[in-house]
Amino acid sequence: MAEVTLTDVTKIYPGDVMAVDNVSLAIRDREFLVLVGPSGCGKSTTLRMIAGLEDITAGTIRIGDRIVNGVAPKDRDIAMVFQNYALYPHMSVYKNMAFGLLLRRRYSMWDNPFGFIFAPGNWKKARKERRAIDGQVREAADILGINDLLHRRPKALSGGQRQRVAVGRAIVRHPKAFLFDEPLSNLDAKLRLGMRAELKRLHRRVQTTTVYVTHDQEEAMTLGDRVVVMKDGLIHQCGTPYEVYEQPTNRFVAGFVGTPPMNFLSGRLERVGERLVFDEGDNRLTVSPRYKSGLEPYVDQPLTLGIRPEALRPASEGPSDATLNVQVSVVEPLGDRTDVYAGTPKHDGIICRIDPHTHVAEGAPAVMQVDMDRVHFFEPGEDGRNLSCDV
Ligand code: ADP
Repeated sequence: MAEVTLTDVTKIYPGDVMAVDNVSLAIRDREFLVLVGPSGCGKSTTLRMIAGLEDITAGTIRIGDRIVNGVAPKDRDIAMVFQNYALYPHMSVYKNMAFGLLLRRRYSMWDNPFGFIFAPGNWKKARKERRAIDGQVREAADILGINDLLHRRPKALSGGQRQRVAVGRAIVRHPKAFLFDEPLSNLDAKLRLGMRAELKRLHRRVQTTTVYVTHDQEEAMTLGDRVVVMKDGLIHQCGTPYEVYEQPTNRFVAGFVGTPPMNFLSGRLERVGERLVFDEGDNRLTVSPRYKSGLEPYVDQPLTLGIRPEALRPASEGPSDATLNVQVSVVEPLGDRTDVYAGTPKHDGIICRIDPHTHVAEGAPAVMQVDMDRVHFFEPGEDGRNLSCDV
């Protein structure tokens, strides 16, 4: 087990492709850290640099106390699990899991047959090593519940079972860190949920430092102790799932994390008497006292208001200074909740996630109450800074 530390790490691919741009990140010992972001944001490149599968253009990577910039992948004492599992098709599950350990054993007849045969002490040591490997494989199989599959070949396994074997092959080695590259993306949705829970349990049990790459923000939120949100080779935020959801640093993170996504309404901040008001164009929403002082410098400026779908609900007492008059287009009952798609003349596609027992009529106007204590104000632009986090 170990810390993994990236300091000012940059990767430029040939053709001047800036894949990772001066990234610094300290992954704590025993932590489960998830790198998440849209395709092409640089998360796999970051992981592959930690693994040693990509050269680093600039910066330093440490695993434990050791700088590993020039260390070959096999000498980094890490184990990687890939999206396509990369199992050996001609080997049984047992051999797939034992193979890496067998390669590393020190007392083998095949390395030096004469030396081995004429030094009987080596026989005993080889036997002991084989037993140890057997113990490690069976222990891992036990943890993952694949004892019954040890004699099978990969082609006789389901996707989920193959994934377990790939994970098993990583854990038998007791590495300093696990690196996972989108390991669940080949599984169907239901299996993915099951494996997600299994990976979480596994991490609780073995407590090995883990770096996990996914493009799926929900997977990131459910698995990570901390989540690193990346875009265009940069880290936009690193925090606990709660922090990135409740206090996104900018509009990109706010829109990337959460399903359905946050609603963004562009407008202007205005002063009306003692109050600050966000003018959406057709609706005026009074800023909560919680955010008022922090937003004073932005009066008369364009801003973007971010409202999570669950911060909107039908107003029980009609229009007020914290309501939006909308036209409802679609109502989607989902059992435990209902999603309502609505719009104002200026902003289409506003999603409200409401209590399933509340009635909202499709194709009719409605008044939606905004929980102004839970909204966010962003500077304009796709990556506009979250101004409500500073207050
Ligand atoms: P992600 O894993 O977030 O989808 P990657 O780390 O794979 O993103 O890629 C980051 C950027 O680097 C992308 O623009 C991608 O096209 C580019 N890239 C990745 N691998 C190579 C390569 N071998 N040569 C050139 N560009 C690459």
